[in-house]
This record gives sequence, C-alpha cells and structure tokens, in this order.
Amino acid sequence: MPTGVSFPTYEALTASLTDVAARHPHLVELASLGRTHRGREVWLLTVTDRRTGPPEAKPAVYMDGNIHAEELTAGAAVVHLLDRLIGGAVDDPDIQDLLQRRTFYLVPRANPDGADIVQTTPYPWVGNGRRLPPLVPERGLYYDDIDGDGLVLWMRRPDPDGEWKTSDRDARLMVPRGPGERGGVYYRLFPEGRISAYDGGAVLVSRPQDGNLNRHFPADWDPDEYGGGPLPLSEPESRAIAECLVARPNIGVAIACHTHGGVLLPPDPPSEVPFPFEDRELFTAINKLGEQTTGYPAISVLRDFTVPGMPRRHGVFNDWAYLHLGMLAYTVELWDVIAEAGIARQDRQPFHPLTEDQQIQLLRWNDQALGGDGFVPWRPFTHPELGAVEIGGWKYIQVFRNPPTTSLLEREVDKVARFVLELAAALPELRVSATVRMVGPDLYLIGAVVANGGYTPTSVTAVGARRVGSVTLDLEVADGMTLVMGSQHLTLPHLSGRSERPVPWNPWVRQWTPNAHRVEWLIRAPRGGTVAITAATARAGAQRLEVRLGAPD
Ligand SMILES: [Zn+2]
Repeated sequence: MPTGVSFPTYEALTASLTDVAARHPHLVELASLGRTHRGREVWLLTVTDRRTGPPEAKPAVYMDGNIHAEELTAGAAVVHLLDRLIGGAVDDPDIQDLLQRRTFYLVPRANPDGADIVQTTPYPWVGNGRRLPPLVPERGLYYDDIDGDGLVLWMRRPDPDGEWKTSDRDARLMVPRGPGERGGVYYRLFPEGRISAYDGGAVLVSRPQDGNLNRHFPADWDPDEYGGGPLPLSEPESRAIAECLVARPNIGVAIACHTHGGVLLPPDPPSEVPFPFEDRELFTAINKLGEQTTGYPAISVLRDFTVPGMPRRHGVFNDWAYLHLGMLAYTVELWDVIAEAGIARQDRQPFHPLTEDQQIQLLRWNDQALGGDGFVPWRPFTHPELGAVEIGGWKYIQVFRNPPTTSLLEREVDKVARFVLELAAALPELRVSATVRMVGPDLYLIGAVVANGGYTPTSVTAVGARRVGSVTLDLEVADGMTLVMGSQHLTLPHLSGRSERPVPWNPWVRQWTPNAHRVEWLIRAPRGGTVAITAATARAGAQRLEVRLGAPD
C-alpha cells in the first residue's frame, strides 16, 4: 500500500464544486474571490438555505484551508464540511435548522497554485509558487530531488566530525552523537538537494524564499518576518481572503485550517495588546467546547507552539481576524502523527526533537500501520557536490503534514466539521417581539422587545463591538398613520449572550449587561392597520415582525 492520500487536482476540485453548486442552487453558490498569478481561481462557496433569507442577512461562519501549499488535508476539511451540510440538508434536522439560520462561507483551497506544485512536484515549502522550485540561491544547499524518486528526503554523509550516528536499536534511525563521544562512524545530515557555489567548506542551507501567505495579514505585520512579503497582503490569495472577510460583516466566526499538530490555536496577542476580559472568558469557554468536539487540545501559540528561541509570528490571519475584525477566530492544526503513534510529549510544537525511544516508537507505528512505507530506507547515491552520500528518511508531506491514509484523513476532517457546526450554533441571533395596547381612539401603544437568543454577544466579541454597527430597530408605518411618540429609527447598544453568564448572578463577579432592550412607540392610526418592526445587526442577523393594530371594523 503506497503511503499518502491522493487529493483532487485543481481541475477536479473545480469540477466537483461547480457540480455541487449546480445541483443545489437553493443551498450553494460558487464564486471566485480572486485569481492567482498562475490564473487559478480562489473559490468561495456560500452555503445557506436561501428560502429563509439571503446569505448576508444571517450570522455567518468563514472557514478556509490549504493556505499553506503542503496542507491539502486542511482543504479536505473544508470540503468535508460542505459535504456534511449538503448531506444533512436532506435528512439531518439539526443541519437543516442551521442552514435556515446561518451562512457558511467556505474556501476549500486558499492557495491553489501552491497546492498544485505540491501535488505535481517533490518540493516542500513552496509558498504560492510565485517563484517556482527549485529555488536556487547564490550560495548554499537548496531542496532538490537529486535521485529522481519523486521525493525530497534527507542525505547523510559520513564525516568524522558529524553530529549524528546510527541508532543501535534501528539502523534507519539517526541519533545525536554524545558530547565527548569518539571512535565511531558519524554523519552530517542535510535536506536532499544541490549546493550552489560549493567551496568544500561548510554546507549552509538556505531558507527557501517561498513566501508564507499566513504571515501577510495586517496584524502586527513585520517586514523581517520570514515569508511576510514586501508589504501586507502582497499576494492575490491573501488579499482575496482579507477582502472577503471585510466585505461580509455578518461573519462572526473565522476558522483557518492547517496541518499539523492536532491542536486548536485561539488568538494569542502579545501582552501589550489589549485582550478584553470578556473575550478571554469567551475563548476559554470555546476552547473547552473545541477540545470536547475535536479531541485536540487548545494551546497557546507562543508558549506551546513556537520553537524555543524563535520570535513570535507576525501577520497571522487568526490574529488579524480577532484583533482587527473582532471575530471568534481559531487556527485548527489537523493531524498529529506523534500522537497517532501513541507518543506522549509535554509540548505540542511540531519541531520538538523526539527522544530515541519516541523515534523508535514512531518507526514501529510506521511498520505496523503503514507497512514501513512512510520511511524510505537509506540508499547510496553519488552527490554532484558532496560525493558519496545516502538518501532516505520520512515521507514528510505524506506522513507528517497530511494523514497517510484515507481512513485517518476522514477521521481528522470530521473532528473539525463537528467543531465548526458547534460554533455556528453558538452565534448570536436577534429576536423581536411586540405587544399592542389601544390607549385611546385610534391611539396605540406599541411595545417591542429586541433580544439576543444566542450564546455569544450580538457583536460576537468585545473587540467586535467596536468593529460592527450596533443593533438597529426600525418601525415602518403605513400612509395615514402618525407617530406621536418615539423614533422610527433607533440605535441600541449590543446585547450580551448566554456566554456572559457562566455562573448564577452574585455581587462579586462581572456584572450582567442587558441581553434585551424594550422600546415603545405611540401611534395614531386607523383600526386594523399594520406596522412592521425590523431589528438588525450585522453579526446577529435581522428579524422583521408585522404588528396588527387592533381588530378591523
Ligand atoms: Zn499551515
């Protein structure tokens, strides 16, 4: 059984999305957010039951995947949610209900050029393919498939000063040489590739100048960030995504799917950036919900997911979506081969060095679960610059960056779908109700209550309250009616949700804010007339209510 899942090509994906939209016109609309520099479309699917209102009038979830070229699984997670929604529209009452009340904006392949390069060439870390690999530097080693087996693996070269030796317990495994260790066979380890301008001295490895679309967003963007580009949103893919979110103020939840690590990453702002207590509390509660639905721990990007000694990341989508747009934003890192092999570890950062025991355990898992196919045994090769080397190692993209089998893939993507459906259900939802009392001849007192029936506040987050317009209440009256008291257009503060009230009221906790407002109008009108009341706010939808003024004569 060859290791690695076969993901759809851009053409196959485009055909299947087009087909889904054509077969379900009342549910799915397919549009392009923008075109890549190699002429591919960044597809957006807008999914909602249009019979209950247009997409923009409903609270919404945004979800994308595969912004990093190698992370095809992340795109499969978005397609899986689409499948769940389409399938559930037929026979799942919970999904039917959600589709009536919510909109899902789905971007299954945020970086189609990069994905295509990963699917058709052996190169890892290709960004969006603005510069096609192999990226040949002036000096130093660069990735290349020098033995032509379709994979970029590792090279080991015998060297008496080398840092590595072969494990006594498994000849495939390279383990560190001890600080004072002498007299054995030692190796240097390098990524598989060629060396530009090699002078026989140190082999230096150049970082591929691939461009990292998830360092392009205008939150804490830094020109020195690796892959951040010359200015924020400098590539068409990142710009298309940013414009998509800004143009859709009904989006309250943003989910960026990535691999790997098997973790949920809520925003983790630097300590000097304000992080309102209400939002900390909300994210803490949603972290728990996410852990229960996915089995992935919710961890801190900086403390638990950053290589020690490396700076914090800049220009990340998730930070921008929360800090600038006030969305409930999560990065989901799908799939963790380390955990799959049953290896426990303290931190979750994906470049954590494993102990020899842990690596042996990983190889055993490979032997049992994959028939040994996830690791290519070392084979001699004559390198054009280095001479005699051996090439071998893990099939990194097929085993670490993506689950190696279809059944593992299906299990992982369903975890994310469950979480996203829970988040959609937790969004705010305006409700309006009214009473009418006749207080004199042709004189009516109308009382309306606008309330939030959802879990999160109507702004979704405290930051969001500054980003989206507050609640509006509009009264439409017919010809021949006179408004005696009250205003036809009212602007009301945002309403809290159930999330504000994790414990019963007591005087020593954060005090409640209103989850409903009541207003009154006095109208002179002929008996039997009708007025309409509309409550709206971008992230909690709109509701229109018609009110009859007494019984007709
Ligand atoms: Zn990623």
